[in-house]
Amino acid sequence: MSSTIKKDFDFTAMNTFRICRQRYDYRINRGLVPKRDELPLTFGGAIHKALDELWKQYREHGKYTDVQKAVDIFKGNYTEDTKRDDKRTHRLGEWMITNYAMTYAHQPFKILKVEQAFEIPLPNGNNFIGRIDKIVDWDGAIWVIDHKTTSELGPSYGRSVELSGQFTGYVWAARQLGYKNCVGVIADVLLVAKGVLESSSRARLTPFARFDAYRTDSQIEEWSRNCGLAQDEISKCESANTWPMDGLLSGLCTYYSECPYARICLESPEVRHKIIKSDYNVSHWDPRDKQE
Ligand code: SF4
Repeated sequence: MSSTIKKDFDFTAMNTFRICRQRYDYRINRGLVPKRDELPLTFGGAIHKALDELWKQYREHGKYTDVQKAVDIFKGNYTEDTKRDDKRTHRLGEWMITNYAMTYAHQPFKILKVEQAFEIPLPNGNNFIGRIDKIVDWDGAIWVIDHKTTSELGPSYGRSVELSGQFTGYVWAARQLGYKNCVGVIADVLLVAKGVLESSSRARLTPFARFDAYRTDSQIEEWSRNCGLAQDEISKCESANTWPMDGLLSGLCTYYSECPYARICLESPEVRHKIIKSDYNVSHWDPRDKQE
């Protein structure tokens, strides 16, 4: 049983709880991670580090001064394994970074912050913890920018940006940090697809796109209330040490990709501890370290 009631929350913790309470217990409470998935950093995480380097160069010099340095950062943070994954390769990452720098050679805004960490009290006394990728000033309006990698990028992606509670939370956080006229979010999206490497298929794909979405005062207020409700429910589960297997009822065990704890849940309850011991390591979730 948890010895203390959790006070620090990030978006990943709340989102995991909403997907499945059992999954929350495995990842956030117990820190279980599948042994086979332990790569130093995901492809998306390494691309993210490379983009940080590009944006720092642009903030300082008004242009990208050393794109190769960003490529080297990507390669240094991502170990490719073409037997397991022949899509997420060094070649693809290099293409994405160099072509991103060409596509966005001229940024239309002033870059105020790159990687802004925050830890801010919520109205219920808990803390909301996270990191905003970028904060920019675009003709006097403040926007938060979040980099995303995805294997499917089309016009419908914009809908997910409009509906994203994660992004509403970032706008809330930016306002709390003093950017009172933060009006919304821009998702800076990069496509992860082997097809971009071939000129024959590249024309059918959209390798890069940006989607903006405003947030109103009342939407932000509503987000804050919903956070409080989710955290109350987490506290109740902690007090009772009860973690229902929501995914089995909602079908979310295989949503997007298979849940990393499916191997445990597929077994009978009396042998699950053996699967946990043989197939999982413990790496405690740290909301201050945005790696997943
Ligand atoms: S496999 Fe399904 S029930 Fe089990 S933790 Fe994952 S989402 Fe929950």
